[in-house]
Amino acid sequence: MDNVDALRDLIREIPDFPKPGIIFRDIVPLLGDGEALHQTATRIADLALTHKAEAIVGIEARGFLFGCAAAAVAKLPFVPLRKPGKLPGETISAEYALEYGADRLEAPKDSIQPLAKVALVDDLIATGGTAAAGAKLIRDLGGVPEVGIFVIELLGLGGREALEATGVKVDALLTYDE
Ligand code: AMP
Repeated sequence: MDNVDALRDLIREIPDFPKPGIIFRDIVPLLGDGEALHQTATRIADLALTHKAEAIVGIEARGFLFGCAAAAVAKLPFVPLRKPGKLPGETISAEYALEYGADRLEAPKDSIQPLAKVALVDDLIATGGTAAAGAKLIRDLGGVPEVGIFVIELLGLGGREALEATGVKVDALLTYDE
């Protein structure tokens, strides 16, 4: 499998999940295809290395699946950004807005080398709020968020623009109009 569009066939669309009006892009069929999973991890790894990343940071939970697989392929360190209260020891955190309310991401203190170039990985970028919080955490940890790499980019929701406005490049394997 070397055609990125073959991956598109493995993203299931679930209308009205988790609430009416949202088309949920489900990556579970892609995870269930070993060849496709390998291709996805390899493509993300290649992009991270192209951007000279020295570490990959993944956002809980689906960013762990792709970020950690890509880090293993690229032989780069992986750093998890977790939901609040999951990490032991000293952490730093960044808050981000949700449609209703706010959420927080936490990272282990000292998990990134000073000034290391970092690739931020998640399954999907929509408004970019989650990724922007991730990029802020990378900066707060002393790293440089070079690029956000996503399996899926939902166009028209401003995510790419929001992230690029903070100086982070954006790459996506697949784009969707909505
Ligand atoms: P955002 O912060 O708006 O860019 O949203 C991105 C985060 O929400 C990612 O961690 C995604 O896993 C999740 N997400 C947002 N919209 C969808 C969608 N339509 N299908 C699947 N996941 C989504």
